[in-house]
Amino acid sequence: MQESIQRAAKDLAGAENAVALTGAGISVESGIPPFRGKGGIWEKIDPMEYATIEAFMADPVKVWNVLIKEMKTIIDQAAPNEGHKGLARLAEMGILTTVITQNVDGLHQLAGNADVIEFHGNFAWHRCMACDARLETGKIDLSRIPPQCPCGGIYRPEVIFFGESIPPEALTRSRKLSVQCDVMLVVGTSATVHPAAYMPVIAKRNGAVVIEINPEPSPLTGSVSDYLVRGNAGEVMTGIIAELERLRPA
Ligand code: NAD
Ligand code: ZN
Repeated sequence: MQESIQRAAKDLAGAENAVALTGAGISVESGIPPFRGKGGIWEKIDPMEYATIEAFMADPVKVWNVLIKEMKTIIDQAAPNEGHKGLARLAEMGILTTVITQNVDGLHQLAGNADVIEFHGNFAWHRCMACDARLETGKIDLSRIPPQCPCGGIYRPEVIFFGESIPPEALTRSRKLSVQCDVMLVVGTSATVHPAAYMPVIAKRNGAVVIEINPEPSPLTGSVSDYLVRGNAGEVMTGIIAELERLRPA
């Protein structure tokens, strides 16, 4: 791993326009389980039964009780880890411009990244399905499920359920950044959900170095990404930042 950390630090040291694409894996060390793989939420519940917009519309009480309440509890307790902080440090160093994330936990912003594109929305807010009024998730009264707006409508999180489309501005901007970037860091994503998984393909085709950070290989490994730094996001980012600070003393 040390060798690939040094390689990543070297590639980043020469970059001015790096972009990161992150997935659930970067938040695992913050105590938020991923959807797929070991310990993932999908081992316990079926996404088709709980995470589609159809499922929510058909039975909001069930989806609130099983999925949304649990996510709220978990996200409320989470804080950025060394992986998020490492990306914030890269931005501070003038290397990284933007984080494109599939996560809904808001931890990149908490870590200090100013430019974050959220493909799947953010769990920090809820919206009334009848009148569109917004309410911070922390202020939702959970004594009645599903929680209701004063107008009588039901609150839903401002996240994208399966079957809903990615906000078009997020997609357009991410595509553009993927074309322009000189390095793309792909951190903690299984790269199976499209169109997010397509961004590294765009980056690679346009000449960027694509670096994966993940304890496991993904479908990008060995084809789209130049190399995989195999390990947890926290320890790998800590190593990369230490090496970069050695290469580029402040
Ligand atoms: P995923 O659940 O499909 O895959 C997680 C990936 O993270 C895997 O490749 C796994 O090997 C890797 N991983 C596990 N531990 C890691 C660690 N410590 N460091 C680095 N990588 C690690 O996640 P995904 O690809 O992001 O895809 C799916 C969807 O899950 C997204 O749509 C996202 O909205 C949603 N999701 C978000 C959160 C969150 O906001 N934190 C949590 C769960 C799911
Ligand atoms: Zn309302």
